[in-house]
Amino acid sequence: MRFTKLRLTGFKSFVDPTELVIADGLTGVVGPNGCGKSNLLEALRWVMGENRAKAMRGGGMEDVIFAGTDKRSARNYAEVLLLLDNTDRLAPANFNDQDVLEVTRRITRDVGSAYKANGKETRARDIQMLFADASTGAHSPALVRQGMISELINAKPKSRRRILEEAAGISGLYQRRHEAELKLKGAETNLARVDDVVEQLD
Ligand code: ATP
Repeated sequence: MRFTKLRLTGFKSFVDPTELVIADGLTGVVGPNGCGKSNLLEALRWVMGENRAKAMRGGGMEDVIFAGTDKRSARNYAEVLLLLDNTDRLAPANFNDQDVLEVTRRITRDVGSAYKANGKETRARDIQMLFADASTGAHSPALVRQGMISELINAKPKSRRRILEEAAGISGLYQRRHEAELKLKGAETNLARVDDVVEQLD
């Protein structure tokens, strides 16, 4: 899978729909301080399922919505669209029926976030898993933000291990194991309850 396009609408400083074409090779984003370069990278992380407002440099997730200026009023929602080339068919089975995969996330004030994959409502967890399995995602070590290198050098072994696991594409497996363990616990509780009932009947 390859990222081919990012479109931002009402996201942070990008009030009007803005498209970034991600061509083969290296894509550079240059501009004066404060023009929105970091906002672009944050939009990429956000559409892949980032759920920590702090990682978006905000106090709450709705802070990603265009807050207004002297000349333009604030918006009610923010949307980011990420287009992926899936001709190599590396997307997980539930997203793998087309050559192009279009993922969108929209946040509306007082409503919250909603995700879509190729126009269909999709759970946040499935979007996060899609990118985790592809060794990318909101916490991908491929996205290097300012200050991250020194953080990595000074990180405790446990945090450093998490970064390596993310790079190896196995963090999605941990999430699945956790969910399987919860299901197992639920099944054990149900079995114990059945045992109690059987005992009472005997
Ligand atoms: P630098 O080169 O200094 O790191 P940059 O190009 O990375 O800057 P960003 O940090 O991406 O710039 O963008 C900062 C700009 O985004 C600021 O002008 C800030 O006011 C604006 N901004 C951030 N959040 C919002 C929002 N919710 N609504 C409107 N503008 C916003």
